[in-house]
Amino acid sequence: MNPQESELHYPLGETLPATGKTIELATGVRWLRMGLPFALNHINLWLLDDGEGWTVVDCGIATDDTRAAWEQVFAQELQGKPIRRVIATHCHPDHVGLAAWLCERWQAPLVMTVGEYGFARMMGAALPGADGPAMVPHFQRHGLTDPARLAQLDGRKSYYTTLVPKVPAHFLRLEESRPLQIGGREWRVITGTGHSPEHAALHCAELGILISGDMVLPRISTNTSVFAIEPEADAVGQYLSSLEKFLPLAEDTLVLPSHGKPFRGLHKRVAQLQAHHAERLDEVSEACVTPQSAADIVPIMFKRELDTHQLTFAMGEALAHLHRLWYAGELQREAGEDGVLRFVRIA
Ligand SMILES: [Zn+2]
Repeated sequence: MNPQESELHYPLGETLPATGKTIELATGVRWLRMGLPFALNHINLWLLDDGEGWTVVDCGIATDDTRAAWEQVFAQELQGKPIRRVIATHCHPDHVGLAAWLCERWQAPLVMTVGEYGFARMMGAALPGADGPAMVPHFQRHGLTDPARLAQLDGRKSYYTTLVPKVPAHFLRLEESRPLQIGGREWRVITGTGHSPEHAALHCAELGILISGDMVLPRISTNTSVFAIEPEADAVGQYLSSLEKFLPLAEDTLVLPSHGKPFRGLHKRVAQLQAHHAERLDEVSEACVTPQSAADIVPIMFKRELDTHQLTFAMGEALAHLHRLWYAGELQREAGEDGVLRFVRIA
């Protein structure tokens, strides 16, 4: 446990649900965990008792292992009731990967915000600008020149579609202005940006529970990246504004994050995340006394060896921090003769 985590409270200690099993966290709220073949090796999913059936929140990626774990859940954990609807907090593969499979299997609708659903369809179709090769000119413009790395990025044509082979052809819309009724309780939708286009967190005041998705995680900081599809995005600014939407919630809220363990200490964690980005912004600003590209910033922010998958997020994060300072008027952007965009402090 890192020092920051020790300021949070994990009510279940080290207890984790075994594969294909669930743990009840509150009346009608169950926790399950699916594996991921990445450095981040798991995702948490939630089953909410919805009276005659269950509402599922998030799906896992489309692998045989995840399907097998779901089969165990269907056989042992549903108390003879069907899955009635499938909510996805956002469009990333670990959240929406098996949505089509779950929806078809149970004849259940997919429920998402329109922003997330649209992006899932777009990436699921590997449309130009949203595919792997679109990253090549984007990251070249920001100083990534290593031909081997660029070739690897260019080759990642099917990254999303491998993990998300299909997205349902229709959806029901989640909206902040329209709370959901789940099992006779009201769940409010809290949308957020900066990590994904219109992330939905779900808050039930009656239960004192927040399903935070990827917006508030206890151990790692949420990825805030600028990618090719929206090359001038202010992802860090958006994320920091979105974090403030969680501050009106009670401090003793039980937070159910997509990665890590359920915890209490929401305000503490928001403050830690705000401090984390403030430190990173200071670090980037200091470096920009001389002109810096996003590629120049990567080794300053990430002092370890990065594989190509990690490098895409590192480049995206470096650029997002440069953009925050640029939009704040601390940096200006200039294009070099080599065509690379660099940022430098305004004297
Ligand atoms: Zn995500």
